[in-house]
Order: sequence, then structure tokens, then C-alpha cells
Amino acid sequence: MLEEKTSLNVRLSGIVNESVSDGPGLRTVLFFQGCKHHCPNCHNPQTWDFQGGCEYAVAELLRQLPDTPLIKGVTLSGGDPFFQPLAAIQIAHAFHQRGKDVWAYTGFTWNNLLEKKDTAMYELAKSCDVLVDGPFILAQRCLDLPFRGSTNQRLIWVKESLKQGRIVEWPLSSR
Ligand code: SF4
Repeated sequence: MLEEKTSLNVRLSGIVNESVSDGPGLRTVLFFQGCKHHCPNCHNPQTWDFQGGCEYAVAELLRQLPDTPLIKGVTLSGGDPFFQPLAAIQIAHAFHQRGKDVWAYTGFTWNNLLEKKDTAMYELAKSCDVLVDGPFILAQRCLDLPFRGSTNQRLIWVKESLKQGRIVEWPLSSR
């Protein structure tokens, strides 16, 4: 299996094994360490430092994460997982192999990532089921939005968006 072949490392600021607020259902959440966006009013500035957090071997991390029917999927959060795209891709593929879905939060916009064709960042975007794009913007904060903090952020249904060549938002009714 993929998770037994990999020798990549990943730097994380934290792991939550059972979250109900970072995507639909019960989810494993990996908070990636390192972010270059430096958004004003960031809630997690401790995740900016690329030398912070803890380093894990991806294969060992995957072995330790719970793999039970109760877990619906994994959410890659941060920080920004797109600054460690190769490790994030391997984690995403491993969860797909387990039959789970993959959500990711990023400070990049969908268009930013589409412009990075032929890069690992673009591959990571394609490896997600849903991408919550763009930084948190305090002036656009909305407490009523499911799974995101500000109105600029979109729940992008990756497969349909690529297929239709336009942004298709993930249907909240499928929660
Ligand atoms: S992308 Fe997220 S973690 Fe990075 S600075 Fe912006 S709000 Fe903070």
C-alpha cells in the first residue's frame, strides 16, 4: 500500500482525531505547520514558522491515525497544507485508499492553484474532494457559514469544478 512505501516527512502543528467542525461527519484533522500567507487577523500565527510544530514520517503517521468506519474523512488544515504538497498528496491518497473523503483548507484561491499547473500544489488540489479556498478575512467574517469563517471562502467541489471548467460549490445538502 502507498502508506508503506513512502519515506516523506510532514511537519504538523497538531492532530485532532475526531472533529465535527472541519467538514462533514467525524473527521481526522491534520494541522500543517508553516504558512507564508501571513493574513492579518490569522487565528493560528503559531503555525507560520516552518521550523515549528513536530515532524512525522508520513508512513508512521498514517499507521497511527484511526482507521474506523466512524471516520468519514480527513481534513488537511493549517497553516497551509499546500506548502507541503508532496506529503499532503500521499496522505490524501492513503485516505482515499481507505475509502474516506479528503477536504483541504488553503490560503490560496482556486484560481491561484489552477495557475500552478504541472506543480505539486496543483496535484494536491486535484487530490482533494473539497477545497475551502482563500484566506480568512475578518471584514468578511460570518458566523453562520458552515465549515468556513468568511464569505470569500468557498467550498469548492473539486471533481465537478474541473469537469465543468468553472467553480462548482459542494452541495451542503449532501452533508
Ligand atoms: S492562510 Fe490561514 S494559517 Fe495562513 S496566515 Fe492565512 S489564516 Fe493564517
